[in-house]
Amino acid sequence: MKKIPFVSKEQIEEITKTYPTPFHIYDEAGIRKNAAAVRDAFSWNRGFREYFAVKATPNPRLIGILREYGCGTDCSSMTELMLSKAMGISGEEIMFSSNDTPAAEYVYADRIGATINLDDITHIDYLEKALGGRLPKTLSCRYNPGGVFTMSNGIMDNPGDAKFGMTTEQTIEAYRILQKKGVQRLGIHAFLASNTVTNEYYPKLAGQLFELAVRIKEETGAALSFINLSGGVGIPYTEEGEPNDIAVIGEGVRKEYERILIPAGLNDVAIYTEMGRFMLAPYGGLVTQAIHEKHTHKEYIGVDASAVNLMRPAMYGAYHHITVLGKEDAPADTVVDVTGSLCENNDKFAIDRKLPAVEMGDYLFIHDAGAHGFSMGYNYNGKLKSAELLLKEDGSVEQIRRPETPMDYFATLSDQGIYERIEREMQEVSGIRISNVL
Ligand SMILES: *Cc1c(COP(=O)(O)O)cnc(C)c1O
Repeated sequence: MKKIPFVSKEQIEEITKTYPTPFHIYDEAGIRKNAAAVRDAFSWNRGFREYFAVKATPNPRLIGILREYGCGTDCSSMTELMLSKAMGISGEEIMFSSNDTPAAEYVYADRIGATINLDDITHIDYLEKALGGRLPKTLSCRYNPGGVFTMSNGIMDNPGDAKFGMTTEQTIEAYRILQKKGVQRLGIHAFLASNTVTNEYYPKLAGQLFELAVRIKEETGAALSFINLSGGVGIPYTEEGEPNDIAVIGEGVRKEYERILIPAGLNDVAIYTEMGRFMLAPYGGLVTQAIHEKHTHKEYIGVDASAVNLMRPAMYGAYHHITVLGKEDAPADTVVDVTGSLCENNDKFAIDRKLPAVEMGDYLFIHDAGAHGFSMGYNYNGKLKSAELLLKEDGSVEQIRRPETPMDYFATLSDQGIYERIEREMQEVSGIRISNVL
């Protein structure tokens, strides 16, 4: 499907008068439409809840929009728990699907009433000890059947190589122990394939988990209260792929529910999801300006963003589609590498990419950066993280995170003398535009 940016060149020229590039921009209208579609797709299930995976896009303004559609949060760390709590989210609206978890995070998760999802059978004892000899009333176990997970279109993933979750035998044993220890509300969780671009993944995963739930009931007497399909519903990053249809996915899960759970007497099981990418990736773009062109052994376009703003291409060789704004319909008749400025040769947003001829000053829209984009950023080379903007439904723009400043970057140094000298220097050079800050 052709990828069309949700902002035009004219809009970006207007926006950059206030907010210099690079920045991430999010599309409120798109986010709302999709969140409503997710809610509707699972409305057949009374207890359904999407727990938005905070790590994908940890911005409270965006999470606040998702909350309007009934979403809770799925957290993986202390700071994500803190953010959820500070937003007024608590209790059963928070899922804590962490792994290799420090005791202090379990204690905090328990205090705010989050549902703890245990990554390993040994964490039962670890948690009990951390909580001073008791367990929460609600607990979930993360399941990993091992092997490979395959779907009919050839997509597969490799749970057998993944560090997450417990084996089948351990999972069943875990419920036996949890029941004996008096845990009242039990759930199961599994994340077996990532970025699946097929409507088949959730229904197939649901089928496996539902059958396991029946087996758990038969073998241990434990009736699960919720089944968490986690994340993994993907988006097509290239123009060749077709987007998933969440209504078809929801219907597929319902069929499995009626085929497996209802006949087994498990007719009030809540379905949970923890999608990140599907909720926000298509509704965010990284906007960057071409500042250099270089003709050496290859053709290069240098932009003012880098892997610091969007790491997926450098980290996974991931494809992100790029539109040269204002040249949407121009022929893609040049072949270039689009690079950032890090001292790392993998700092390239695109390699051998066909694009319309890019001129200096052109704005590039890097698609599908709304999840696992800004949040994966880091500060290598002393580069600063970008701003996040929200394009609102009325067409206005709201800054929902300011860009980092040099003072943010130096704030953690023990030598405060250095910090103060840089701060003074910043004032002296305030007429100069330092990076994307002044
Ligand atoms: C990353 C993650 C998610 C979200 O995954 P997406 O592919 O973005 O949907 C959900 N749950 C857990 C436990 C995760 O680690």
